[in-house]
Amino acid sequence: MAELIDTIRDLLRLNSIDLRRHALQVELEKTPSGLKALDVELCSRKAERDRLREELKATRTALGAEEVELSKSEKRRARAQERIPLLQNAEQVEATQREIVALAEAIDVLESEILERMDRVEGLDAATAKSEESAEAGGAELTTATEAWTERRPVLETEMAELDGERLPIAESLRSDIRRRYQLAWRQRGKAHPSGVTEVLGRICTTCHTEISARWLQECKDHEALHSCQGCKRLLLFDPAAPSAAAKEGEQPSA
Ligand SMILES: [Zn+2]
Repeated sequence: MAELIDTIRDLLRLNSIDLRRHALQVELEKTPSGLKALDVELCSRKAERDRLREELKATRTALGAEEVELSKSEKRRARAQERIPLLQNAEQVEATQREIVALAEAIDVLESEILERMDRVEGLDAATAKSEESAEAGGAELTTATEAWTERRPVLETEMAELDGERLPIAESLRSDIRRRYQLAWRQRGKAHPSGVTEVLGRICTTCHTEISARWLQECKDHEALHSCQGCKRLLLFDPAAPSAAAKEGEQPSA
């Protein structure tokens, strides 16, 4: 029994090391992909900003050309109006008046086009400014996250190396069949939170809700045998350092 208690202590220690290693592993894998996603997002914000800048530039150019065209038409109309009193016959007057009417129509069209174009410039101006802010904020976020990760990663790697060093002698000291059972529990797929050990509430495994036989449970609590949950394969371990099983049961919430 004393030997089994040592094994249980080792398994519990090993599991707490492996839980920490798993958390480190998740962070080591997730953070770089998170940074990559930020980078992709930043690229698309920059592309949108550049597209808006181009569109704004083109719209301003078009507006400038329309304004030049308007000014020309207005001058032509003014000249035509000045010409009328100097004309020799009714035919010439009529032709000039027709020209003035046509010019006035063209000016009307140009003026409304210019107004629309000015609205468009105003809208694009605001959208461009917003996209520039957004690209800048994305850049700052990526820089901050990258700097934080540059500091964080070696810390995680150091801790991982320490844990690897700590777990090796424990794992090697375990009997091979026990080690295999422990590894089998860790290898069960589809678990968001893998572990080699499960807790039991009443007689129910808290991981997979399988009912544990009363005899097994008692043997585990008394540290007389090593059993695994038949559902999730996790070891049913009770910490020898924890208060006795009887005391524990007394503490259980009535719910
Ligand atoms: Zn289970």
